[in-house]
Amino acid sequence: MDEIIKAISGDGFVSISVIGSRDIAERARTIHRSSPVVTAALGRTLSAASLIGCTLKKPEASLTVRINGGGPVGTIIVVSDHMGNVRGYVQNPFAEAQRKVIGKLNVGGVVGTNGTLTVIKDFCEKEPYSGSIALVSGEIAEDFAAYFTASEQIPSAVALGVLVDRDRSVLAAGGYVAQLLPGAPDGVIDALERNIDETGPVTDVLKRGGPEDLLESVMSGLSPRILERCSVEYRCTCSRERFLATVLSLEKSELDDIRRAGEAVETRCQFCEAVYTFEIDELNVPMPFEYRAAK
Ligand code: ZN
Repeated sequence: MDEIIKAISGDGFVSISVIGSRDIAERARTIHRSSPVVTAALGRTLSAASLIGCTLKKPEASLTVRINGGGPVGTIIVVSDHMGNVRGYVQNPFAEAQRKVIGKLNVGGVVGTNGTLTVIKDFCEKEPYSGSIALVSGEIAEDFAAYFTASEQIPSAVALGVLVDRDRSVLAAGGYVAQLLPGAPDGVIDALERNIDETGPVTDVLKRGGPEDLLESVMSGLSPRILERCSVEYRCTCSRERFLATVLSLEKSELDDIRRAGEAVETRCQFCEAVYTFEIDELNVPMPFEYRAAK
């Protein structure tokens, strides 16, 4: 089971959220049958969305991350609930990118840098909050660091990693977001930077240990106090009822065409590949009031 651990330094100047997300990244890979580099790109985005999502608190709130850098993978969409349970998909799961460094997946190459990272927080009241930044490297972690710094004005260090095995399965995945609170003295900033350097690639630590080892390494000497632990998973919220409602909310002319054709309608969930088939009889029911009213 994957886990998020939240902690704060003894002096209160550094907050950190760490995630171990191997199961989430592996579930996404098996659903989408993604290439290793796409598994890494999607896995990193799922980890980041989970870390931000579990700060939303309000039960009906949700978070959507949309990345499009003009690279071969196309658009990446990830959604998190308020507890950090995530789901996601990409436009081209089989995309590839030439490796620049031997043994290292070229995530920036498959994502591209000509585009944006958008984070939408929907609290189900008024308009959703939306923040967008130009992509920095398409490597995801750097892009999220830029998002926190520019859009939320919190100096942040973000590290994310997905280690893919020879058989394409995920060996380790996860990362962290470390944030400086106002007034952090230079000594604390230096210590954090040193720790981040010494920690190195997050998947090295996660492969050997778990998210707690990663937390201890990044917060070494800063007397971290654990505030919260939460279990997170890949979770889709689709249902037959929702898809039926979506079909019934199509334009009247489209629905009439479907009814005239008289064939069953097949719908597929992009997040989990579940297929829902509706016989024509099911589509002959009158539209629910809310969908009629929405037209
Ligand atoms: Zn689904």
